[in-house]
Amino acid sequence: MTTQIQIDGEIFQNAIDILKDLISFQTESGKSNLELINYCELKLKKSGASSLKTFNNSKTQANLFSTIKGENPDEIGIVLSGHTDVVPAVPSEWTSDPYLLREEDDKLYGRGTCDMKGFIACTLAVAPLFASSKLKKPIHFSYTFDEETGCLGAPLVLADLKKRNLNFSSCIIGEPTNMKVITAHKGYNEYKTHFTGLSGHASDPENGTSAIEYAIEYSNKLMELKNELKNKKRENNLFSPPYSTLQIGKITGGIGANVIADKCSLEWEVRPINKSDGDFVTKSIDEFSKNILLPKIKNNNPNGDIKKEIIGEVVGFNKEGDSEAVNLISNLTGDNSKDTMSFGTEAGLFQNSGISTVICGPGSIDQAHTVDEYITYDQLKKCLKMLVSLKEKMVN
Ligand SMILES: [Zn+2]
Repeated sequence: MTTQIQIDGEIFQNAIDILKDLISFQTESGKSNLELINYCELKLKKSGASSLKTFNNSKTQANLFSTIKGENPDEIGIVLSGHTDVVPAVPSEWTSDPYLLREEDDKLYGRGTCDMKGFIACTLAVAPLFASSKLKKPIHFSYTFDEETGCLGAPLVLADLKKRNLNFSSCIIGEPTNMKVITAHKGYNEYKTHFTGLSGHASDPENGTSAIEYAIEYSNKLMELKNELKNKKRENNLFSPPYSTLQIGKITGGIGANVIADKCSLEWEVRPINKSDGDFVTKSIDEFSKNILLPKIKNNNPNGDIKKEIIGEVVGFNKEGDSEAVNLISNLTGDNSKDTMSFGTEAGLFQNSGISTVICGPGSIDQAHTVDEYITYDQLKKCLKMLVSLKEKMVN
């Protein structure tokens, strides 16, 4: 009952006010998030938290890792984790300014409300509650940059924590799952392969080399690999579809039917159900490229080339046998469905660092990355309730 009163009152309004501030920072992936990070650091400092920051090379982006201490120095803590970057928004497509929080019909509109500043706002709103309680173990707040473009920030935090010998028992990633407990997701690898040929008049093919023809041979190899992935025997059937997928999403090249194309590029992705499938594709296509296709290109044209660019490689999140994090959050939310999902997150990175991890956060993935993105009051309240229950569980 106490919990309910708190959530409907001051703490809920506080979360909305914070979300309004967070939305106003235009933290598109790749752009500076320093103002937002300073804002969060200051808020947490007021709750007595101490902070560590890690930066990108040009110091324009930062990850924040803040800690509210527990009373028992031997107990290791729990991490609440969210990414601060958002996907771009085209203001002319939106009903209202995407960076100005709008409230209507118990919904809050704005870029990042759902993915995932709503969760960050909830964690900041409950921080003073954690701070004023006698916690058995520490609670940590991890806010990262550039998750949407390949999880670039999180590895820096994790490396820093490892260097400092800091350990954690569980990590809760608050990506939008409608507050459902998610226990696994596939990896996500994205690539762009560039082919260079030699331009010439189509009437004399011997005078040029077609980048498009090489891209087709490369594509055929990718399609072979796609079928091999599908035909691999699987022990578990966690995912839908229950195998690793590969697809080419974009081909660009050439200027017209009568000109030999000197440039072509392929944009393609792999969603591996385990790391070995991802490694299998990389090894196979790179070997084909180096040993078969490239010598053929060079034979026709010494300046011809193939370059594979890695856009992002997000490791998968694997189901843990008896997961401390999953048990904890299932207990707090009452959700025992323990589902899987198809989009990538930072969960695999935390898990690979030896931290028991679960994904559970407010909002629906259907609203993430959309025009007029929103989160409902109901989802924010459910998240606040979960966090307040977590606090109660951590009190002596
Ligand atoms: Zn996200």
